[in-house]
Amino acid sequence: MLGLQRRGVAFLQPKYKRVVLKLSGEAIAGSKGFGLDPATIQMMAQEIKDIYDLGVEIAIVVGGGNIWRGSTGEEMGMERAQADYMGMLATIMNALGLQDVLENNDVPTRVQTSIEMRQIAEPYIRRKAIRHLEKDRVVIFAGGTGNPYFTTDTTAALRAAEINADVILMAKNNVDGVYDSDPSINKEAIKYENLTHLDVIAKGLKVMDATASSLSMDNDIPLVVFNLNEPGNIRRVVLGENIGTTVSRD
Ligand code: UDP
Repeated sequence: MLGLQRRGVAFLQPKYKRVVLKLSGEAIAGSKGFGLDPATIQMMAQEIKDIYDLGVEIAIVVGGGNIWRGSTGEEMGMERAQADYMGMLATIMNALGLQDVLENNDVPTRVQTSIEMRQIAEPYIRRKAIRHLEKDRVVIFAGGTGNPYFTTDTTAALRAAEINADVILMAKNNVDGVYDSDPSINKEAIKYENLTHLDVIAKGLKVMDATASSLSMDNDIPLVVFNLNEPGNIRRVVLGENIGTTVSRD
């Protein structure tokens, strides 16, 4: 089937019109394991541009675990909520880094934060975010949900429901889907091609946390879990190739 590419050239029709791409802090750190890895962010920006050029509306939810996690603060004896606010700030640093690299690749973006930070980004306004998407801007949601005790996976599920996204793309770092056991430990681990949200919750599979899973289930938002480190994978998923694991309601 032919569709219209954003820059006017006829191309393949994407399977999804509006996506939420969840990029974890771990993915942003690349092989450095901490902070922002320039080569990794550059590669991500190129992959995002590839689907942008297909005409897909893209909202990105960024994690922050490459800089700070609430659990790190707790280990230091910090109060959980305080440590979690630091984690939310970490996601904003990642968002600003990603925004800059995307714009250097000619992808227009807006960052919206769930904690107001008006000098550097817009506050999160649902209807405005949708308008940006309609105007061909990539929207980066930063600051998580704005509440402690949550994760950026839950943010992805929440924002996906709010903006009526067709799918959540869960880009993983060097894992190509969901397995019945840890493939780095068990060589016999079996990869699932399809799962239901209920399976994920009942089997305790490590796809996203339980809050995020139940929110995705309640709002009937499918997820595709795939390996970000394989070049071209975001594009493959968006064009409907069966790579990774699809998690849906039925
Ligand atoms: N966080 C939070 N509320 C949210 C989202 C995130 O408190 O709605 C905090 C939490 O401390 C978390 C940190 O931000 O550990 C970084 O987010 P996350 O661990 O989800 O990032 P990722 O694992 O995707 O890198």
